[in-house]
Amino acid sequence: MLPLTPIPDKADAVFLTCIGRIQDAALRNRLAAVTNEIVRHDLEFGNAGTASTFFKLPSHNAVGTNVTKAEMISVYDHQMVPAASHGRVYYDKIMALAKNRRCPLCGFGQVWTLDHYMPKTHYPGLAVCPRNLVPSCSDCNKAKLSSVPSCVSKQTLNPYYDNVDEVTWLHGKFENHTPVVVEFSVQKPRSWTATTASRVRHHFKTFNLARVYSSEAASELGEIKEELTNLLNTCGASAVETHLAEVARRRTNAQRNSWRAALYRALATSTWFCHTGCRG
Ligand SMILES: [Zn+2]
Repeated sequence: MLPLTPIPDKADAVFLTCIGRIQDAALRNRLAAVTNEIVRHDLEFGNAGTASTFFKLPSHNAVGTNVTKAEMISVYDHQMVPAASHGRVYYDKIMALAKNRRCPLCGFGQVWTLDHYMPKTHYPGLAVCPRNLVPSCSDCNKAKLSSVPSCVSKQTLNPYYDNVDEVTWLHGKFENHTPVVVEFSVQKPRSWTATTASRVRHHFKTFNLARVYSSEAASELGEIKEELTNLLNTCGASAVETHLAEVARRRTNAQRNSWRAALYRALATSTWFCHTGCRG
């Protein structure tokens, strides 16, 4: 999971820009009249993010008394997503938060869309709230669907509020036989509460990260087999271990809980792999 800093634009500014070109004046005025409600929903969302209590946010079917869920979803679908729409500038700004277009939810895929952290079908007041919109790859967007958290440990991580990359929690392990199949898992660091560990495991499970990472690790092992075999044949197992440990150090410094960092940490500390398994 990669932390993000939200765009500085306020929810009311984004909302008013989105609705600014709606042709139907009566609809536009009715939407503009609930701007304070949009601000309230955004404020409650921000407080929930700080307190890690998204699950306590009450779902709703309307914004104020005069704007329906369908109308709010239409504001997002027709006034923020289309390339020529008035609110698209904010859509693009949020998408651009993802460094190198890397999906912050899996730390792996390429961002393709915006995910509503709290789904717009249950929280229409947050449909165009910038900090409820997370750049995401298509797989992560599909995996989460419209699920609503029921308790704190069933909340996926929110890149704007949750930074869990300060300690190492992603680990890889494998049996001593070839082909090497690496299993990735979340292991609770001492500094975490049990709730944090449960939440990270829930995030890991929701986005199918064990399967995705294992598949990527298999490809990586195929690509480095020849290089490691040559190193083993010419310089010996200790050279293989030193090389893998150096790669693990660099990968960990770059992104502590990336699948590559966890993979190389596991490989470098396996005597079997350095002596034998690296031949594939
Ligand atoms: Zn993703």
